[in-house]
Amino acid sequence: MQIFTTTQDLQDFIHQFKSQNPTKTIGLIPTMGALHKGHLSLIEASLATCDCSIVSIFVNPTQFGANEDFNQYPRKKEADLQICTKAGIDVVFMPDIAQMYPLDSTLQTTFNAPAAMANVLEGKARPGHFNGVLQVVLKLFNLIRPNKAFFGQKDAQQLLIIQKMVQDLFLPLEIVPCPIIRTEEGLALSSRNAYLSQAGIQKALQISASLNAITKAIMRGVKDSKELKKIALETLEGLEVEYLVVVNHALQEIEQIEKDSTLVLVVARVEGVRLLDNLWF
Ligand code: AMP
Repeated sequence: MQIFTTTQDLQDFIHQFKSQNPTKTIGLIPTMGALHKGHLSLIEASLATCDCSIVSIFVNPTQFGANEDFNQYPRKKEADLQICTKAGIDVVFMPDIAQMYPLDSTLQTTFNAPAAMANVLEGKARPGHFNGVLQVVLKLFNLIRPNKAFFGQKDAQQLLIIQKMVQDLFLPLEIVPCPIIRTEEGLALSSRNAYLSQAGIQKALQISASLNAITKAIMRGVKDSKELKKIALETLEGLEVEYLVVVNHALQEIEQIEKDSTLVLVVARVEGVRLLDNLWF
């Protein structure tokens, strides 16, 4: 496994790989590290379908708000490298901030994520978050020029906004959505779960339970969003629910669910930790 810390070394590798293997494919798995089985499922999806798989590990400062956990965000370099080596990853790209951004942020080209998709839900709670996500993801796409990039459905809004950027900017790659990986009990895996106590983890199980209750109701034939939300909120009792919405893929709230175009998104706080979960229907 090769490890690159500079954009120059990475670009040299990509240039050489593409000129020596013009028909081979590159898969990119962008991450912020503290890798777990959720990330590993993206890695495995890339390894199964691409000739060269590249994991990026970069805690991207531009997607964190001033009062967010950028400094505390878990960083586990050695464990991450072990996971990547064991999985059979070809390249890890782990730059420092200076490699990715100019020191003077007023000298940085920026652009905005589509307002209607980026200023709601996570974007409302975290202003500017998705601009930062697109900024770093586009940089990674341009540095690596992957054929496929793998993203988790766990971060549903992020996935939909990235797919929209690819569509709007005619970017020549495929975005591959990967299903949510959970603990045996049902908690969606997240690097931020590390902030939870055992009691917190137990409490957090109410979140996936609420989505299971929605799935069961849908299977009983319930289509009305209000009714589905009511069912889920009963299961979430005692938790600080930030939002629970039933939306389409443009992130607009809908009254009736429709197969293959509906998402239920939930964010709740447990022990002060914001936990995201969702259901793609
Ligand atoms: P992060 O390191 O949190 O930025 O996540 C990197 C990628 O892993 C994103 O595409 C996430 O959606 C994905 N991911 C994180 N947790 C999970 C999970 N539990 N299941 C599937 N994908 C996940």
